Order: sequence, then C-alpha cells, then structure tokens
Amino acid sequence: MSALRKIKGVSPDAKYAFVAPGGAEWQRTGTSARVLRSAPSGMDQVYRPETEDMAQTRVAGPPAASLGVERVTRCYGTVAAVDDVSFSVAPGEIAALVGHSGSGKSTLLRLIAGLEPLDSGRITIGGREVATPKGGVPPEKRGVGMMFQDYALFPHLTAIRNVMFGLRSMRAAEAREVAVRALARVGLAERAEDYPHMLSGGEQQRVALARALVPRPGILLMDEPFSNLDRRTRILVREDTFAVLREAGTTVILVTHDQDDAMRMADRIVMMQAGRIVQGGSGQDLCHKPATLQVARFFAEWNEVPGVSRNGVVSTPAGDFPAPSLREGEAAVVCIRPSGISFGDAGRAGRIVSRHFLGETEMIHLAVAGLDQPLRVIAPPGSGPATGAPVSFTVDRDEVFVFPAG
Ligand code: ADP
Ligand code: MG
Repeated sequence: MSALRKIKGVSPDAKYAFVAPGGAEWQRTGTSARVLRSAPSGMDQVYRPETEDMAQTRVAGPPAASLGVERVTRCYGTVAAVDDVSFSVAPGEIAALVGHSGSGKSTLLRLIAGLEPLDSGRITIGGREVATPKGGVPPEKRGVGMMFQDYALFPHLTAIRNVMFGLRSMRAAEAREVAVRALARVGLAERAEDYPHMLSGGEQQRVALARALVPRPGILLMDEPFSNLDRRTRILVREDTFAVLREAGTTVILVTHDQDDAMRMADRIVMMQAGRIVQGGSGQDLCHKPATLQVARFFAEWNEVPGVSRNGVVSTPAGDFPAPSLREGEAAVVCIRPSGISFGDAGRAGRIVSRHFLGETEMIHLAVAGLDQPLRVIAPPGSGPATGAPVSFTVDRDEVFVFPAG
C-alpha cells in the first residue's frame, strides 16, 4: 500500500487512492470517489476513476506474480523438448531464458502460458497451481500476457484499437483512455489512429508491448520480441521496452537467443540446452563462471585450444592447465579469455602478427608455435610490443576454463 501514503490527505478508510490522467488525485471509499486535489491548471479535466482494478493497481503497486516451474517435462514423440526443468522467478523479476535454436525455450514458454499440456511436473503462478499433467487453468485465466516476435498486430485495426483489444472486458470509453495512456507510455501517442502498415517495425513492436501490458498481466512472456528488428532499432526498442517493463513492475520471462538482450535486460539468466537448464545466475556468473563449453561460447569470445587430459593436466602450446574433473585421456577444449593474456619478460614464446585498434582496446594476434591459429589478445591500445616482434606471454589462470570437448 505504499502509493497510498504518497498521496496526501487520503482518509484512513480509503479503499483506493490514485492519480488520474491529467494529474488529479482521487480516493475511493467504499463506492464513492472523491477528488483530493485537482489537476494542475491547464489540465483541469475531471476524470471518473477507472475500474476498481486499475485503481487498486495504482495503490497496491503492480500485480506482479511469482512463477514456479517444478520438474516439468514435455515430449514430442521421443524428443523431450523440455526435460525435467525446474526454476522460479520472483515477482517483478525480469528473467531471460536463453539458448540456441531448438533448446526448448518456446516450448517452456507455451507450457507456462497454458498453450501446451505438460507430461510431468507442475507450474504455479502467484503460488496457485495452474498446470499439472492432469490439466490446469485455461490460458486466459492465468493472468499471463504474451508478446511474440511474429505476434502481428491486427492489420485492419488502428494502433489504439489494437491496444484496446487487450481490454475487451472494460467499457469502451474507459478502455480508450487506458489505451491512450499505454500508447503515450511507449512514445506513440501521436500515432494512435495509424494502421500497422503505416508504422515501422519498431513502432509496431511498441504497440504490441502496450497491448500486452494494458490488461496488467501478472507475468509477461516475451518470445524473441526483438529479433525481427534491425540492429539499431533493436537497441532502441530494447531500451524503451526495458524502461516500460521496469515502470510497470511486471514479472517478465524473456526468451532470446541473443546474449546481449539477456545481459542488458535481465536480472537473472537461465540457459537451456537440449531441453534442460544448464546454468542459471546473473549475467556476470554466466560470463565469468561458465558451467559448460556451450555456456562459455554463448556469453563470451574465447581462444579455444584443443588438448588431451593427462594426469589431471591439459598441456598445450599456450600453457599447461589443470583439469581435475576430466577423465584420463579425455579430449578437452581450453578456453582462454582474450583479456587473460599478457606480455612480459618471462613466459612462453610467440610473435605478434597483427594489431587492430578498436577504440577503447586493441586486438592483437599472437602466433604461437604448435597452434593452428594465432591467439587473440585484448590489450589497452598502444600497449604491448610492435608487429613482427618476438614476445613472451603469460596466461592468467583465472581467465581460463577447461571443458570436455564436444
Ligand atoms: P527453441 O524455442 O529453443 O528454439 P522449441 O521449444 O521451439 O525450441 O523446440 C524444442 C524442441 O522441440 C525442438 O527439437 C523442436 O523441433 C521440438 N518441437 C517444438 N515444437 C514441436 C511440435 N509442436 N511438434 C514436434 N516437435 C516440436
Ligand atoms: Mg523459439
């Protein structure tokens, strides 16, 4: 009830208090509504309070719901698209589900939405069980909003009509007011009467976002929402979307195959591979402590040096690296972070083959006898030896991960 305290003069028996469009402050006691403060001059319109639902939302904060996925499996024939997956998301948290194509992300999202039955496990939303193998709550009763990459807007409806579609249960005049505000929030107030074909891809996606958010879903599910946009638009739309989602406070599950989307938007990242969760954590965790070769590759660029484990060590031309968890004779990949290599007086021998100035940093290619490809080294610009020079280099053990090859 924090917003109640922010609006001055609210009586103790007020059920709701809220700021109407235009800035007037209202409170509602039982069935009567009273203006506490009129809107600033020039905007002095009197608005009837919206539905009780909306009012309550303003007072109690966003109706963000928690999500629980417990040992959920979904098979297509013999393929387990989602294989014994468990994870939970706190109210208001933005979680990103990442992984390569075919890893089961969309299937998991459809299970949460209720568009797919599950074979085992259970799903809860806001603590309420919504899905078990026996059935569950129908999609429209789960309080879940959806936004897909190809979730096209209705072409025969204007932007505002598209947004109002999400508010069918509201009276038309109220729905229009809410939709106007939602469009304003995504920066499209002026385009309300335009049809989708008159809008750019980024603008259409913003309308889709407004449409998904107006019913105030407890959880918003987004499946690759930016992947149809060109790079520049994608970055802008992503930032705006993030701001809108944070303001709305909704719980979000964002599916993406783009690690940049995940890192920039999510509080927590969950990586899937072949239907299973391989690692979950902050972007930093996945970047700095990857649990598998696939996670490492997904989140960062590495020098990958092949080798074989002997007596718990993988010896390579770039150095000898401990690999206690590998079996004797097991093929390994040594991942060396480009920023983990430095030049000095001691160490292994190499030769600088090229240098590329990248602005904040410099990319140096370092040839090492016995390696097919030069190592890539990231260093501060202007540092390090000249092209062609023989050098000594060392590898920081903390910047190296050894995984089984595969
Ligand atoms: P992602 O979204 O990560 O790309 P999906 O969830 O779409 O992955 O797919 C996971 C696996 O399930 C894939 O092997 C895919 O071929 C399979 N799959 C997905 N949907 C169906 C379906 N309706 N029928 C049969 N197989 C499916
Ligand atoms: Mg998918």
